[in-house]
Amino acid sequence: MAGAFWCVVEDDRKGMPKKVMAEVIGEAARLGGPVEAVWLTDKATDEGLAQLAAWGAGKVWLLENAALAPYRGETWVPPVAELAAREAPKAILAAVTSRQREFMARLAARLGVGLAADSVGLAMDGDRLVATRPVYAGKLLSKVTWARQPWLATLRPNVFKPADAQPGRTAAVERVAATIPAARMQLVERREEASTGLPELTEAELVISGGRGMKGPENYVILEELGGVIGAAVGASRAAVDAGWRPHRFQIGQTGRTISPKLYLGFGVSGAIQHLAGMRTSKVIVAINKDPEAPIFKIADYGIVADLFEVVPELTKEFKRLLEK
Ligand SMILES: Cc1cc2nc3c(=O)[nH]c(=O)nc-3n(C[C@H](O)[C@H](O)[C@H](O)COP(=O)(O)OP(=O)(O)OC[C@H]3O[C@@H](n4cnc5c(N)ncnc54)[C@H](O)[C@@H]3O)c2cc1C
Repeated sequence: MAGAFWCVVEDDRKGMPKKVMAEVIGEAARLGGPVEAVWLTDKATDEGLAQLAAWGAGKVWLLENAALAPYRGETWVPPVAELAAREAPKAILAAVTSRQREFMARLAARLGVGLAADSVGLAMDGDRLVATRPVYAGKLLSKVTWARQPWLATLRPNVFKPADAQPGRTAAVERVAATIPAARMQLVERREEASTGLPELTEAELVISGGRGMKGPENYVILEELGGVIGAAVGASRAAVDAGWRPHRFQIGQTGRTISPKLYLGFGVSGAIQHLAGMRTSKVIVAINKDPEAPIFKIADYGIVADLFEVVPELTKEFKRLLEK
């Protein structure tokens, strides 16, 4: 529908939209809708379509084609650009994820419109949309608007209020017969990392971060144990990643992941500006550091000046007791 708010679906590559889509769809509805999902996938499922409807998508534009997996910008952008030119949505929103980040930048270039990347706020001001986004590694917030439609924005996970799922709501599904361009890049090999059993870093509501103070890779097991008890993801600072203690996908910060959990617990992290850039929008920040002068205490809501190797087992024990695990 012309004038709709499109939400580009981020899925788990197995046919289900990720829960961050509840936030994107919820925000599109709050801005006035109408809300439509655009789903590019090699395998949609009825369950996935029902989930999008339950969150509030009134329509799903379904581009289902084997050539769309794995994600490549060169295969995803042309069919969506074509569809947008035909259907004239007012806005195109997506979550900040590795592939949506790239996809939305390419789409903005293709459509010749602006992109408010990494938005932490969206609001209608009369008949224009205004996005709030962090700049200078999160030290300032800037407000931006668009010279013309469609308004493209990526939304930082865990910032926007998720839509309540209402099972039973239905969405019209329109299959788009798009021509997918031949990809110049071929996938040679795909390796799935073994799951830690903990939530994914960018989607987690609780995040534990371990820095150089962890002293070595073998010690992350204590953070994982705590994570297992409270249901938190475990991330790391760049110092820990550069030392080879954790893979890069766990790095939080300017050159890693941006997170915005309800609770961030930093153990042995000093709080360098580049680390803060990736986590300063967390709702509650708790820092555990043996140096009372560590810069992280300046932005922490709660601080414990102590040796983390004493604090972590105590916290794990206490949470276990409280949660009766
Ligand atoms: C261009 C650029 C991009 C960057 N991008 C990122 C990024 O994305 N993410 C990122 O994190 N960094 C990034 N950095 C690096 C950043 O500047 C810092 O070097 C890094 O964040 C430091 O990591 P850290 O806090 O773990 O280590 P440190 O700064 O060494 O701090 C370790 C802390 O652990 C404490 N500690 C030690 N032992 C204990 C203990 N037993 N108990 C309690 N506390 C203890 C110490 O008091 C200290 O405060 C970037 C730098 C540059 C130049």
